[in-house]
Amino acid sequence: MSKQPHDADGVGRMQFLLDLRRRGIADLAVLRALDEVPREHFVDARFVDAAYADQALPIACGQTISQPYMVAYMTEQLRVRPEHRVLEIGTGSGYQAAVLSRLAREVVSVERYRTLADTARLRLTTLGYHNVDVIVGDGFAGVPDRAPFDRIIVTAAAEAIPDALVAQLAEGGILLLPLGPHGGTQLLVRLTKTAGTLEREDLIAVRFVPLLRGQAREL
Ligand code: SAH
Repeated sequence: MSKQPHDADGVGRMQFLLDLRRRGIADLAVLRALDEVPREHFVDARFVDAAYADQALPIACGQTISQPYMVAYMTEQLRVRPEHRVLEIGTGSGYQAAVLSRLAREVVSVERYRTLADTARLRLTTLGYHNVDVIVGDGFAGVPDRAPFDRIIVTAAAEAIPDALVAQLAEGGILLLPLGPHGGTQLLVRLTKTAGTLEREDLIAVRFVPLLRGQAREL
């Protein structure tokens, strides 16, 4: 059953949501957002049968689309509200951006590979996610001309907290990022900006592709 494409099989789709709930995702708005976004449109055609399995999958440029549980968990921990403007670093397939777009007022997503950004932008437009802007650039710099952001989510692992992202966080804002060595185990960290100080909470151990400096030279 779970091999069936999502929208062709109500049972596979229900299983997908039940698995997320069983693993502790409790926020109904987050579950609804994951239910609404068709993951099979964000994975490579070769992997459509695995679109609703709980696994990360390869996308172009040697990158990966995160496993659905991680997308759900990070989205829940980001505590997004409908009035929020959200910055995502690491567009990849655009799946996380699509999920966020169901919960927030506006999503700005930055990707260092032009190929990935162009593909994700077209996909998001075609699927009708009109409150997402995909930008090609270096996420280390954030997007200063669109700041401040209520929420910032980084979907690649940083070895240190990027200063520009902290600077672009609104008062009371949350920055969620995997922090730790490239290729090793990283910690998912939530930083909350209050009265100019940052409160840090360490959440769970994770493994993400590295956050790399600069726009990619290759396409
Ligand atoms: N959120 C994505 C998964 C992203 S994988 C999804 O839902 O599919 C991490 C992505 O971060 C990769 O596409 C990688 O190219 C990108 N990335 C790495 N370093 C970056 C940087 N400095 N700026 C922008 N994007 C970066």
